[in-house]
Parts: sequence; C-alpha cells; structure tokens
Amino acid sequence: MKVVAPARAVTEVDGLSGRRYRAKDGIYEMSPRDGRALVQAGGFLPSLAGATSRATGYRCTRCGFGAFFTTCGRCGGPCDKE
Ligand SMILES: [Zn+2]
Repeated sequence: MKVVAPARAVTEVDGLSGRRYRAKDGIYEMSPRDGRALVQAGGFLPSLAGATSRATGYRCTRCGFGAFFTTCGRCGGPCDKE
C-alpha cells in the first residue's frame, strides 16, 4: 500500500516489521501492516491527500465554503477560484 509521509522532511521510516522504508516523492510503498502503523503515526493515504490539498480549487463568495466546483456544494452560491 502507498502512504504519504507525515512531513516532507521525513524521508525514512522504520516499519513495525523492522523493515526500513525510504520515501519516493514523499510517498512510501509499504506492507499493509507497516502502512497502517504509519497512518496512525501521522501519515495519510494518497487519496485523502489529494482531497485536501489539490482538489480545493474554489471558494464560495457567500459562505466561504471550499468547493470543488464553481457552484457551492453547501449553499448553492457562486464560487471564485482560489
Ligand atoms: Zn456557499
């Protein structure tokens, strides 16, 4: 499984199994057991990382909600590109 490093500065981590992993572009390719342990220690899954950092492209001008589209998902108001 792939796990995104908790911080960009972290390039190496030891898994529960004793294996040492090295991040490639901030992402670890780990065994499921070690990956889950790193997620609990502050790492996160790439799909979640995408949802929080890359996908928020618009902000509602009416309520300030971060939206993925030009129409607010909360109040239906217009959204401007961030
Ligand atoms: Zn809104």
